[in-house]
Amino acid sequence: MNHPDTPSESETLTHLFRSLGNLYAPGERLVYVNRDIDFNHIKVVGFDLDYTLARYRQAELEQLTLEVVFEKLYRAGFPQDFELDHGESAFAMRGLVVDRQEGNILKLDRHGYVGRGYHGLQALEQRVITRTYREQRVGVEKKRFSPVDTLFSLPEVNLFAKAVEHFDAQREAWEANGFSEYAQVWDTIRSCTDASHQDDSIKDAIRADPGRFIVLDPDLPEMLHRLRSLGKKIFLLTNSEPEYASVLLEYLFQETGRGYTGWESFFDWMIVAARKPGFFTEGRPFVEVATGKETTRPKRNVVYSGGNQSDLQTALRVHPDQILFVGDHIYDDVVKSKKNFGWRTALVVEELEADVMTRRNWSIMIEEVEALRGFRQKLSREVARMKFGLNAMDRSRQEDGLHLDGRVIANEEYNAGRSVLLAEVARKRRELKQLDRRVQQLASTVAQAFNPYWGSLFWEAHDTSRFAQQAETFACAYTSRASNLLFIAPEETLFAGAGKLAHSWRLP
Ligand SMILES: [Mg+2]
Repeated sequence: MNHPDTPSESETLTHLFRSLGNLYAPGERLVYVNRDIDFNHIKVVGFDLDYTLARYRQAELEQLTLEVVFEKLYRAGFPQDFELDHGESAFAMRGLVVDRQEGNILKLDRHGYVGRGYHGLQALEQRVITRTYREQRVGVEKKRFSPVDTLFSLPEVNLFAKAVEHFDAQREAWEANGFSEYAQVWDTIRSCTDASHQDDSIKDAIRADPGRFIVLDPDLPEMLHRLRSLGKKIFLLTNSEPEYASVLLEYLFQETGRGYTGWESFFDWMIVAARKPGFFTEGRPFVEVATGKETTRPKRNVVYSGGNQSDLQTALRVHPDQILFVGDHIYDDVVKSKKNFGWRTALVVEELEADVMTRRNWSIMIEEVEALRGFRQKLSREVARMKFGLNAMDRSRQEDGLHLDGRVIANEEYNAGRSVLLAEVARKRRELKQLDRRVQQLASTVAQAFNPYWGSLFWEAHDTSRFAQQAETFACAYTSRASNLLFIAPEETLFAGAGKLAHSWRLP
């Protein structure tokens, strides 16, 4: 018999198998698939940089962004006593929509209706949501609504929520500085944040100390190495400027060896300052970063800025559906790259990791909510049908008396039976109310476990959120990190679950 600490032969083999194959990802690091991808068929894999290859330490980046932006906000006329406490920077989440007119921040369901919202940091009551948005498809009016599509935008949303509270409390102070509506407050936050990104005040701090802001992921060089050794070609397509991108990439790919001599040797084609989404729709030339020479035929192993999808597509010399592009921005990376040429797309959603873990930790209560909700639907249908049946019986009796198996039912018998049924309806109604309360209570506890303000990024009430619906429609796959591609076997086909219509779960 083995000593308890000695692994059995099969355990040793499993361990060896895993360490060589490295294909056993926990749920939070799986690649989830909306549309089948035959990985063998993919010949070229492209990557965005920020929040895709480079994962930021969000808290550090937010702190830095706020430090830099606050100076600019005060200069632009924000009251000097406007500040943001530490806890308040945990408010914003990706996938929200900012209503710049009303000073509200909203989370939408899959149909584009408002599921929940905040005015500043105060939750909006359901009746206010209904009154304000019942005739308004949120997001259609582009000027009024701003989507929060990237994690870079979270500090802006946190600032706006707090500024709306301050604006409401001290309107005179704001008006004295020229701010008369929420939209101006939002626009100023936006322009000051943009300015901080453009004048390099944020980037310089990151370049000076990348380790403070960027997560070093040992799986990342490993993943690119795996793809390359499978014969796949790799490209980089980032909006970041060359000086900034190279610092990040040097940091991320500092482990060389195995024939790699620096970050460039991991990539075949390299495009920086690409100006996505314009890259996918316009026809700018590629400019060689080292020489400034323009070309429409980007070569391998040369770093270019600018460029366009059409010329890159030609240079890659494979069919568009053999290209998989991995990025974190639903619109700039995924919608646009897919639209014109039909590249296959994978969306990086780093929030997925926490979401999967919360789902796992709360699985029993989540199942309970679902079961109770199903029971509630049944009960509610039963009550409606019983009430309808009782009314029909009353009507029919008034018109020509009640007959059963050829005999007329006497009044006493009818009334006795009717009151039993009525009591039954009343009992079921009470049960329904209790169930409603219980479901609401449990659902809100579960939602708070995901995010105390917004619930899960992927769900709104009992349906998928607007963010999840977009991810499902536009991304062929989604995953928490680019390096999760490491867990795909070379000849694997990633299968999607079949889309289900409302009637398809029942046999006709
Ligand atoms: Mg990005």
